[in-house]
Amino acid sequence: MSASHRPAVHFPSSRRSSDAIKNDLSAARLKDVKWRQGHAFSMVYFAEEEVYDVAKHAYTQYFSENGLNPTAFPSLRKFETETVSMVADLLNGPAEACGSWTSGGTESIFMAMHTARAWGEKHKPGITQPEVIVPITAHPAFDKAAHYLGIKLIHLPCAPDWRADVAATEAAITPNTVMLVGSAPQYCHGMVDPIEELGELAQRRNLLLHVDACVGGMILPFVEKLGRPVPLWDFRVPGVTSISCDLHKFGYTAKGASLILYRNRALRKHQFFVYTEWPGGIYASPSAGGTRPGGAIAAAWAVLNHLGEEGYKELAARTLDASDRYLEAIRQTDGLYIVADPVANIFGFASDKYDIFSIGDELALKGWHLDRQAQPPSLHLTVTASHGEVVERFTNDLRTAVEQTRKLSVHKLKDSGMKTIVKVASKILPEAWMSGLIKKGAGSSTPSTDGSPKRTAAMYGMMGSLPNRGDVHELVLDFLDKLTVAEHPAKGK
Ligand SMILES: *Cc1c(COP(=O)(O)O)cnc(C)c1O
Repeated sequence: MSASHRPAVHFPSSRRSSDAIKNDLSAARLKDVKWRQGHAFSMVYFAEEEVYDVAKHAYTQYFSENGLNPTAFPSLRKFETETVSMVADLLNGPAEACGSWTSGGTESIFMAMHTARAWGEKHKPGITQPEVIVPITAHPAFDKAAHYLGIKLIHLPCAPDWRADVAATEAAITPNTVMLVGSAPQYCHGMVDPIEELGELAQRRNLLLHVDACVGGMILPFVEKLGRPVPLWDFRVPGVTSISCDLHKFGYTAKGASLILYRNRALRKHQFFVYTEWPGGIYASPSAGGTRPGGAIAAAWAVLNHLGEEGYKELAARTLDASDRYLEAIRQTDGLYIVADPVANIFGFASDKYDIFSIGDELALKGWHLDRQAQPPSLHLTVTASHGEVVERFTNDLRTAVEQTRKLSVHKLKDSGMKTIVKVASKILPEAWMSGLIKKGAGSSTPSTDGSPKRTAAMYGMMGSLPNRGDVHELVLDFLDKLTVAEHPAKGK
């Protein structure tokens, strides 16, 4: 077959030396976001070199071991069960509290949703279509799980302070409702939902209540121990039945580590899967995955024991200190404001004067990676301990970015012209034409697949102006499709 009839990257025909591969690996990451320099405000949670080394050592020690069968690896059974117990203790679980290790927050949330559906089938006969109620700020992992599991997800607008609206939640309960959801905190604006009120409601109406503490679970307990006001959100709230808590975020361990915790073992049993009829024998597994990476399990246990409450508290203190300085710098910058009043180190900032996404573009050109948020149009910061070292540089770059955005009025005019064209075109053109048009029109505004910073404000502006969310859905599907195929080696260089 000629080369053009094969997928872009061909299967390697011969061996290559380990040195050559190591060089490739080093070269490949040159354009990645410089997280060690504090440039990433999401995705990477870096504490300090020693913690990193502990995680790395544990990970490589156990990277071949498989947590699928804990009788073959008593070491991993110990690490997993002890990690679950330690974190259940941290989150004030009762003696009966239990849980499972999972590959990440998304799997933890999947497990909670699956458990709720199974619990509803057993305890609420007559349910025709299980429903779960979430504030719109809940993580999309709930939508993903609902989509896969055939659960109807009811999204409710938040109160004006971006916390879940408890009265609206009560009004939305139907005979099909199985679970309520709150976050501690929600990722978008860093607010902790009113978990005590939701807990009271869940108990009164005989419903489960899941608290998504994927991002907050390993930092809020220490923020509270440092004496800052944190509303109650963990197992101290009687109505809370399950909590998702990521270790690969503020647990500072290796990627692929989260926990789903339950108030009691009876509830957790709904999560387990057992199949007894397979010719290969009896198959049982606690969570969605089959083979489970020993390295990630061992690293989590190692880092928790390395840091302990003392270490996590120190890191939380440094994180809060850094976060306060970022908040202050943003509040002191002309035209910018903090979207909500965050409990700790996660927040969004917006502008009542300038195009916030243009400011994001200017920052990206200077190497800062900030998530862009839709409601309200804003940029997002997740501040970690290591960000303290770059506050001044960030502040200077932010002020310059605002200044440059102020001068960008010419570009803005061009954008608004584009928006009108897109609005009209999207009504009359088929999807494939539309995405081609967006790419042409936006020029360098197309999201880049190689991670290099490019201007995306125009694209975000257009996305926002598309009259029909279905168009956005299609555009993003198209983009995801392109992002997930290999690039031709000549182009991919
Ligand atoms: C990160 C996050 C998740 C999803 O976790 P993954 O590890 O990315 O799957 C869920 N909820 C919140 C609040 C998060 O911050």
